Amino acid sequence: MKAGAAAAGAAAAGSDQPMEGSPGALTGGCLCGGVRYRLEGPLRGVINCFCGQCRRTSGHHVAATRAPLSGFSLLADETLAWYESSAEAKRGFCGRCGGNLFWRHQERDTISVMAGTLDAPTGLATIENIFIDDMSDYHALPALTG
Ligand SMILES: [Zn+2]
Ligand SMILES: [Zn+2]
Repeated sequence: MKAGAAAAGAAAAGSDQPMEGSPGALTGGCLCGGVRYRLEGPLRGVINCFCGQCRRTSGHHVAATRAPLSGFSLLADETLAWYESSAEAKRGFCGRCGGNLFWRHQERDTISVMAGTLDAPTGLATIENIFIDDMSDYHALPALTG
């Protein structure tokens, strides 16, 4: 599922081109459906981030996978908004339902995607907790599954 070989020519696929079901592809979106996306791997395991920015934007902690930008396409972006959370990075969210979806560093050719917005089953496992010194006092460390 997630480990399918990414077709080298797939980067040219426009967002209107239905490619659901091709090997290695996952889809996801926000609660209201205003933002829908498609990811083609390889996808990194899920990392939980407890940094202050992730806490403030997610309301808890962020759990995100990461995909190559070349394998990322938007199927719907009607309500997608971006917030520049630092000089180097921005966060994508839904301006209607408030769902947190993306984190992108402007100099990297990858995009982090909030794992809870992926349509299940994802085939992913949680591999790491980071910035745990920044966690709030009510937090408990989530178990790692991969
Ligand atoms: Zn939404
Ligand atoms: Zn963070």
